[in-house]
Amino acid sequence: MLVTIIVPCYNEEAALPYFLEAIQKTEAEMSAAYGCGFELLFVNDGSKDGTLSVLRRFAKEMPNVRYLSFSRNFGKEAAMYAGLREARGDYVVIMDADLQHPPAMLPEMYEGLQSGEYECVAARRESRKGEPPIRSFFARCFYKLINRISDTEIVDGACDFRMMTRQMVDAIVSMGEYNRFSKGIFGWVGFRTKWLPYENVERVAGETKWSFWKLLLYSLQGIVGFSTVPLAIASVLGILLCVVSFLMVVYIIVKTLLFGDPVSGWPSLACMVMFMGGIQLLCMGILGQYLAKTYLETKHRPIYILAETDKENPDGTKTD
Ligand code: UDP
Ligand code: MG
Repeated sequence: MLVTIIVPCYNEEAALPYFLEAIQKTEAEMSAAYGCGFELLFVNDGSKDGTLSVLRRFAKEMPNVRYLSFSRNFGKEAAMYAGLREARGDYVVIMDADLQHPPAMLPEMYEGLQSGEYECVAARRESRKGEPPIRSFFARCFYKLINRISDTEIVDGACDFRMMTRQMVDAIVSMGEYNRFSKGIFGWVGFRTKWLPYENVERVAGETKWSFWKLLLYSLQGIVGFSTVPLAIASVLGILLCVVSFLMVVYIIVKTLLFGDPVSGWPSLACMVMFMGGIQLLCMGILGQYLAKTYLETKHRPIYILAETDKENPDGTKTD
């Protein structure tokens, strides 16, 4: 059994040595207990610090370390995709480099897959402790909303830290979409998933790459990628407004017939014009979002571009 551990890294120079130490300890324990082999696959996502040179050193010193290095920052989604494509293991793990995903959970994940009852064992955050309250609030709203408007199940608190069988990895790699939203993709491919609860821990070094704004855009990506309900909202709003305007016409005709027609009502008219304009722009915006994603998708651009990788022979051995 070979287990591949994919580690997306973006400016993780400070965290990597800690990560390597922790993962090697777990590796040793697990190969003693289960006799499985390990392959570490780091993906350097266009880091601006010394991450690449650290990875080069790791790969040189250790035979079971490989790395892929992108030509620029393509985002964590692209890094995970690249890792999954290049992984050779029977089981594949995705893990952050900052030790927020405890390696101590790997044995339990391994056993879950070995039992044959699951194709995926994933970690799930039980609480959002230590997170800014506003962020937790919006995160909760997002999960409620997306699960209501999407057929794909997107689990609240589920993270990318998971171990999957080769079968599931192949399924994910077969989804070559450009606008990637992993939480949705994991749910979409299906397979039996076991959830392991875990407590959020602070990152060991360096800092988070996710700002509130980035997360907001990411959540929009999730909605556009896994639901077409917003498109339907436009039509429903249109019908609703038609009905309302028809009632108003009837009301105005009756009123004019009964009470005559003194000139009044321009403020309400102004409000209505504004309101209609707003709704129309909103609907156009929604359409635009889908169109933009379709546009990017039809360009068939590669999801990432490799600049460098450790040299490897076809049989898996390395030459320097
Ligand atoms: N990451 C990446 N590309 C990016 C941003 C992040 O590969 O553009 C990696 C990062 O190096 C880390 C993981 O994704 O290993 C999670 O990032 P981070 O810890 O910043 O996110 P958080 O844990 O705060 O959600
Ligand atoms: Mg982190």
